[in-house]
Amino acid sequence: MKPIPEKPSPPKTESISKHSGGICYLVGAGPGDPGLLTLRGRECLERADVVIYDYLSNAEFLNFAPARAEKIYAGKTAGAHALTQEETNTLLVKHTREGKRVVRLKGGDPFLFGRGGEEAGELSAAGLRFEIVPGVTSAIGGLAYAGIPVTHRASNAVLTIFTGHEEPGKQASGLDYKSIASAPGTKVMLMGVERLAAITGELSAAGMSSTTPVALVRWATTGRHQTLVGTLGTIAALALEQQFKAPAVAVFGDVVSLRETLNWYESRPLFGRRIAVTRTRQQSGGLVASLRELGADAYEIPTIRIEPPKDKAAIIEAMLGVRAYDWLVFTSPNGVEAFFNAFFAAHSDARELGGARIAVIGNGTAKKVREYRYDVDLIPEEFVAESLLKAFKKLNVENLRMLLPRAAGAREMLALELENLGAIVDDVPVYETVPETEDVAGGIRRFRKEGADMITFTSASTAAHFMALGLTLPSGLKKASIGPVTSREMVSLGLTPDVEAEQHDIPGLVAAIRAFYEGEK
Ligand code: SAH
Repeated sequence: MKPIPEKPSPPKTESISKHSGGICYLVGAGPGDPGLLTLRGRECLERADVVIYDYLSNAEFLNFAPARAEKIYAGKTAGAHALTQEETNTLLVKHTREGKRVVRLKGGDPFLFGRGGEEAGELSAAGLRFEIVPGVTSAIGGLAYAGIPVTHRASNAVLTIFTGHEEPGKQASGLDYKSIASAPGTKVMLMGVERLAAITGELSAAGMSSTTPVALVRWATTGRHQTLVGTLGTIAALALEQQFKAPAVAVFGDVVSLRETLNWYESRPLFGRRIAVTRTRQQSGGLVASLRELGADAYEIPTIRIEPPKDKAAIIEAMLGVRAYDWLVFTSPNGVEAFFNAFFAAHSDARELGGARIAVIGNGTAKKVREYRYDVDLIPEEFVAESLLKAFKKLNVENLRMLLPRAAGAREMLALELENLGAIVDDVPVYETVPETEDVAGGIRRFRKEGADMITFTSASTAAHFMALGLTLPSGLKKASIGPVTSREMVSLGLTPDVEAEQHDIPGLVAAIRAFYEGEK
């Protein structure tokens, strides 16, 4: 038996590429949907020593960077610059010169109105290495999410992309509204929604028909995605009336009307619903992904983290005698993972597990067991401890030895009841949930700033730890619970659930949320 290893220590900084010299990657982060980052972009992030990111690049991507990597916000909301362009250039040069792998993460494509050309120019002038990783631009990809193709065989074959950043009428403005207005095909404008009245006025004066269809798409491809449709004559007033603010892409041309049949993104069942998911950092991915698949603006509030238990004596003992058990009883995917971590730390041969049968509560737990290539012998119909007990009652478990690997501090009801059935139970804490104190992807910040329509809880401990964060709940916030045990804890914390899953697992919770909102329509 090998000793159970401690948590691995963080990697040392030897990966900083001192010998080969530094390099800066100018990476396009796409318009916001995390699925629209390129594979190359992700690869660069995964090896970054420093990440310098923008207002428009999705902050979730910072999770791809190693924990030790330095993350610097370079800002740029209109008007409020966290760093000036000169400061950003200086930072890029400084870190690259120090021999680091620097990722400069920029919204959309780095070479379309992103000042990527200037930043690359600075690196080049300093004699430093750089690479460009193109991205999906909001000018094309953002409009695609609004159901608008920028070209179409039937209507146009020319695309003009221009910036609305410059003040119309300004002497030095390089923009020639006459030639933009008279060009055939689709016109796409980035920036400048604040100056829409002046710009549409210029285009109209330059001869563009006031009935030209126009769409504005703001926060395209993100959960905050919104589209406003009008004509050259009406759009500025509509935008003012609806407080339709930056960042937005504007598109002028007949292709706008194709949206009537091609609007795939905004028609999904949870589109426009903002859902905060509280879960452990390791686990929330599945729930967030399923909700997003249905169109929700789902984001994660990390509340707990899984750690090995402080007291390891009981696990060590259980692993030494693991062959003696008749049953292994798992109540959560975390328990399965922690158990097998300890088992494989202690044994190098999978056969050391012996012939124990395996019982689980919940499909998620079963799935985790199968990932380790063990089959599940018993899974009760309902995903709660009471249902498992009922199933065990039917079998004769008298004098059978059972191992219950579980969270430190979890309820002991199951162990006691199994003992009442005559089983010999070892109730062993294999992991501990501790409060998550880091807010890497900015979920806590987002909850404070924007709130949410709904918040989900998948265990009693996430509810308790969420309350410990002391966040103010926005009015009208709906609460969703994975099952009765979680709901009971929620009620005691003053978070009475509006939705409770019938099937107590992630797919069950997603189905319940969908049904809730479909019922509201
Ligand atoms: N390089 C970026 C553009 C940078 S200029 C790209 O290729 O997309 C910044 C402008 O891009 C914003 O003012 C807005 O017009 C547009 N933009 C970027 N991301 C956007 C998004 N998700 N939704 C709408 N507009 C966006």
